[in-house]
Amino acid sequence: MRTRQIVENVYQVGGAAISDVRDGAVYLLDFDELVLIDSGAGPGFEKTIRNIETIGFDPSKISTVILTHCHMDHIGGATLFRQHCGSRIVMHALDAEIIERGDQHMTAAWCFGIYLQPFRIDVKLRGNQGRLVFGEHAVNWIHIPGHTPGSIALYLGEGGKRILFAQDMSAPLLEDFKCDPIAWRESMDKLLALEADILCDSHAGVFRPKHRVKAYIERSIIEHGFSS
Ligand SMILES: [Zn+2]
Ligand SMILES: [Zn+2]
Repeated sequence: MRTRQIVENVYQVGGAAISDVRDGAVYLLDFDELVLIDSGAGPGFEKTIRNIETIGFDPSKISTVILTHCHMDHIGGATLFRQHCGSRIVMHALDAEIIERGDQHMTAAWCFGIYLQPFRIDVKLRGNQGRLVFGEHAVNWIHIPGHTPGSIALYLGEGGKRILFAQDMSAPLLEDFKCDPIAWRESMDKLLALEADILCDSHAGVFRPKHRVKAYIERSIIEHGFSS
């Protein structure tokens, strides 16, 4: 598998099959300035950079890396983008705190055999929802606690389609990681209410059209032991 274009200005540039086996998906938004959704675990950084160059983009234009949640497969590369590309790092304050205190357990760093060097989050999102503006473009975020306390989903409407980035939908809700199944179930209702046309998951791929997105979320709900 190689990098792929999802819609006109959205690409997948990292992930288990295209950068490093430990990486959750890395999505690139071409807003003139470049925005990444998640950063991979770290060891796949150079491959991700090459993937970005291969599709014709200049990595030094990555202004922002938005992290969906604090797990290592999503955050480990973030500081490399800051160092090499000058990117700022954005995430929800509740998960930022976990990274800044260097929590090896809650970040699942030990599962990936990678030591989490604690790092600073430049922009901390607070509350339930908001909008990040990039020139004439914008990304909306909503707080979807459950998988982690500060998990967020992102969505945009490009070309009349609503594209949802909702990471780790099918991951187990482990007590050991302080996952909160009740909060998670409520978060799934928030995702269903968005009625997205395309869903980009970090491990399970891309789902479209709208009825497949709905079916995937509903199946995750059932697989986690809830009635839909
Ligand atoms: Zn996760
Ligand atoms: Zn993950």
